[in-house]
Amino acid sequence: MNNQKNKRTILEKLFPKQLPTIEAIEKRYPPRKLKEGAMVTRIAPSPTGFMHIGGIYTALISERLAHQTDGVFYLRIEDTDKKREVEGASNLIASALKSYNINTDEGQTTSGTEIGSYGPYKQSKRTEIYQAYAKLLVEKGLAYPCFSSNEELEEIHKIQAVRGIKPGYYQQWAKWRDKSDQEILIALDGKREFVIRFKSCGNINNKIFVNDIVLGGRELPENDQDMVIIKSDGLPTYHMAHIIDDHLMRTTHVIRGNEWFSSLPLHLQLFRTMGWQAPKYGHIFPIQKIENSSKRKLSKRKDPEANVAYYTEQGYPEDAVIEYLLNLANSNFENWRKANPDKNNREFLLTQKKLSGSSGPLFDFDKLNDTSKGIIARYSAEEVYEKALSWTNKYDPELAKTMKKDADYTKKILNIERNSGTGGRKDIAKWFDVRTEIEYFFDQNFNITKDTAVHLLSNIDSATIKTVVDSFIKSYNEKDSKEEWFEKIKKISKTHDYAENMKIFKENPERYKGNITDIARIFRVLLTGKIQTPDLYSIMQTMGKDRVLSRLSLLI
Ligand code: GLU
Repeated sequence: MNNQKNKRTILEKLFPKQLPTIEAIEKRYPPRKLKEGAMVTRIAPSPTGFMHIGGIYTALISERLAHQTDGVFYLRIEDTDKKREVEGASNLIASALKSYNINTDEGQTTSGTEIGSYGPYKQSKRTEIYQAYAKLLVEKGLAYPCFSSNEELEEIHKIQAVRGIKPGYYQQWAKWRDKSDQEILIALDGKREFVIRFKSCGNINNKIFVNDIVLGGRELPENDQDMVIIKSDGLPTYHMAHIIDDHLMRTTHVIRGNEWFSSLPLHLQLFRTMGWQAPKYGHIFPIQKIENSSKRKLSKRKDPEANVAYYTEQGYPEDAVIEYLLNLANSNFENWRKANPDKNNREFLLTQKKLSGSSGPLFDFDKLNDTSKGIIARYSAEEVYEKALSWTNKYDPELAKTMKKDADYTKKILNIERNSGTGGRKDIAKWFDVRTEIEYFFDQNFNITKDTAVHLLSNIDSATIKTVVDSFIKSYNEKDSKEEWFEKIKKISKTHDYAENMKIFKENPERYKGNITDIARIFRVLLTGKIQTPDLYSIMQTMGKDRVLSRLSLLI
């Protein structure tokens, strides 16, 4: 009788607040009414103020898996580590997901409110729920309060290290595991700080078999650690919080970073102890990069590209980043895209089994740039103008001003070699590149000096340059078709002893001073200050006669 009373007193002291009953909680989160095979997935970031590109990658995979099975994808904010939390971070997460078109069906929205009936979706608002289950575990003797101080824990670690045995709080090292009610009551009355630990019945020598979505079948040792489930501030640890939430929110598949793989035995053990069915887990490798010929994880500290904000600042279209990540997730995406250039990437079926399992996906800027160039190539000049302008407005206001002042001219420039819909010029990978591609068209930004021009044309003597330009100016007619214009260039080449095409030049190179590309180079350099540009005829047409003639006069 006394025994019962002590146990009740302990429970009341450990959990002094009125908590909801387990029945009431379970009733609030009924099984979801979804069709067979529908997946319920989530992204569960901690609001640390930094959105890692790996977070978008995981969210993308989870969202696609849910939506392609008519399931549900939700956002859960895991804010139980108050020390790491940064204000405004959950809005940043919701906005990043939105800007990448990763659609959340439930959870926090960009306006800060929540949608969905399985909330609250912020863990700090669910404390009573975690406490209620922790109380149940203590009541059943499956968890216990632990009053060991940090100093004591460190001491245990030291001894374990000296003896060369596995570190941690387990079996004989778990000092509070089998304390009497009397001792617990004394500690509680002494107002000592405590945590709640799960009482593990696992044995490290036993193996469990797991079938991971990404890693496949694996063996892991059972968990024998008495892990903390409720911290001294009353908030749950990740282990406890996520199993409760994934159960109540009816998650069917958890896609998360592989740093959690070694905790999987504990998580499965907790699910079993609760009598709940565990979701399927998929542990994905972090995105890696090559440095000094070896692979390493993208680092938040060292690599600017680890931060999602970087792609926005550089002006990568969101579509490009998403397609690049889809490619990292399922390498067959690339072929699918080639075969279906016009389809929305949502029509691509992401396959769980193909999620790169043997090693980490490798981040490759060249590949991202190629993907992005391909996507931008398919935009119309109008779209490029609008998207580039919204970027320059924020990141290059001076260029934005020019673009707005001369909107029609800018669109004409952007339209050069652009066959919208079928893909055209591939020189813009990100809006940051737009400046280099268009600025030379504007007189105020075009400032090539004679010296530079002479240097870029050093393979042609100055007398030739002068007469070439002269004859061109004399014969130039803005109304000429491309063919007529080209005939004139050929003729000028011939007159100056430059081969009019590559074929005849290659047959007899000694016979000529050079070939038509050298002649074209004269116009290119004088008009653009560059040796590589899009189509020269289109450039002249876009620039207009006055500008063309005045630029060509630089050296004559
Ligand atoms: N909050 C955890 C993290 O950011 C979530 C892991 C999970 O998805 O379960 O790593």
